[in-house]
Order: sequence, then structure tokens, then C-alpha cells
Amino acid sequence: MPKMIFTDKEEATFLRSQKGQPLLMDRAGYLYCANRKTDKRIYWKCQNFRKKNCKARALTEGFFVTKKSGFHTHQPNPGYSGEKDSSEWPQATIHV
Ligand SMILES: [Zn+2]
Repeated sequence: MPKMIFTDKEEATFLRSQKGQPLLMDRAGYLYCANRKTDKRIYWKCQNFRKKNCKARALTEGFFVTKKSGFHTHQPNPGYSGEKDSSEWPQATIHV
């Protein structure tokens, strides 16, 4: 039997907060702050890390969310009205 290939990658949505900080929004509508960056990857932690003691994290490579860990302790942020930042390669524009 052929191995199943997962092509259903989750596309990352990059936003900017009102303060100009990079944010990641996942498919469910949760927002993450950039935490650490390497050549290929960006590590994100939930925006409510402090406020709600939320330990959910995400990892992006290029335009895709490649890994998520932890569970959110709160509801997502529907209708976030920040600016969408999709015009450039996110790796180059995000400074952590
Ligand atoms: Zn969270």
C-alpha cells in the first residue's frame, strides 16, 4: 500500500498588531506572537500566554503552519481587525 501523503498544510495568516508587532492567526482564529526565529522557522506562542496562562504554541515554515502544540485555555479572537501582512515573505519581515 502506498504511504499516505499529507498535502493539507495549514496556511499561515500573518497580521500586524496595532503596535506593529507580527502576529500569526491560525485556521481557528487564535492569535500568536513571534517568540523565536531561525533561518527557516518561526516559533510562536499564544498572544494570551500571560493574560490567560495559555501554553499553546505554533511553528511556521514559510507560509505554512507546520506544527502546533498545547491547548488554548480560552476562545479564539473572532473578527480581529488588524492589518493583514501578506505582501512579503514573512521570514524577511518578521524581527523577533
Ligand atoms: Zn491561547
